[in-house]
Amino acid sequence: MADRQLEGRIALITGASSGLGVHFARLYAAAGAAVVIGARRAERVADLAAEIEAGGGRALAVSLDVTDEASIIAAFDAAEAKFGAPDVVVANAGIVIPGRAVDLAADHIRSVIDTNFIGVYLTAREGARRMMAAGSKESERGRIILIGSITAEMTGQGDAAYASSKAGVAHLGRQLAQEWVRQGINVNVIQPGYIRTEIGGEWFDTDGGKAQIAGWHRRRLTNITALDPLMLFFASDASRQTTGAHISVDDGQSL
Ligand code: NDP
Repeated sequence: MADRQLEGRIALITGASSGLGVHFARLYAAAGAAVVIGARRAERVADLAAEIEAGGGRALAVSLDVTDEASIIAAFDAAEAKFGAPDVVVANAGIVIPGRAVDLAADHIRSVIDTNFIGVYLTAREGARRMMAAGSKESERGRIILIGSITAEMTGQGDAAYASSKAGVAHLGRQLAQEWVRQGINVNVIQPGYIRTEIGGEWFDTDGGKAQIAGWHRRRLTNITALDPLMLFFASDASRQTTGAHISVDDGQSL
């Protein structure tokens, strides 16, 4: 993506210490955005911010736990102090705790919902508050991207809590899009397919994981870069009249 379609934008990305979040931060910085990158592992986001700045980009690392509302507010405060109010928010932080529905502990169910659903909700809400205060109604530059999952539309052994949290994200996106449609804020949901990151651990190297890949039509994992065009589209002027969408990018895995 050679052209700098996010020049002048300020993007806050949660879960930017590994996997998709790291990739999105590099993508947005290369497209000209100032990026605010948050996660609990503060050292990792600090290293990523240093890398982006060394490459000529603008970045701020924040220590962030999306299950803690005060931590989210503090991250936005830090973003505003350094760059100004974010006009792009990517609610990406997520966890998986697999387990069959009869076995999964109540605390684990709560952790998954707390991070993947409430954390996304509170991140989007704080982002929208800041965007509105900064004049999104007039600028029409507010962009909120929620990272869901294809599991929102599938069933799988051990996925009850995770997949249900992601189904919640899909509907939350439409709901928030409707509530903020007159505030110059667009809310869209991207549902990635299976991509090799830390969240899957060693699964795809096991016999079970290999069998799962063999069961997909194209017999392969989704590339992380497959998300790039939509991530740029939903953050930029190009999506000015696109809100309330949710779209899967999964190389046909869910078909
Ligand atoms: P990773 O495990 O590599 O990254 C998850 C990120 O979320 C980490 O940066 C982690 O940082 C952060 N995170 C977790 N809990 C919190 C928290 N409480 N507060 C702040 N940050 C948190 O996985 P992916 O990059 O693959 O996952 C990113 C998103 O994509 C998730 O929402 C996931 O559900 C979704 N997704 C991933 C797919 C895949 O196959 N990889 C498929 C479909 C969806 P830290 O631990 O430092 O806080």
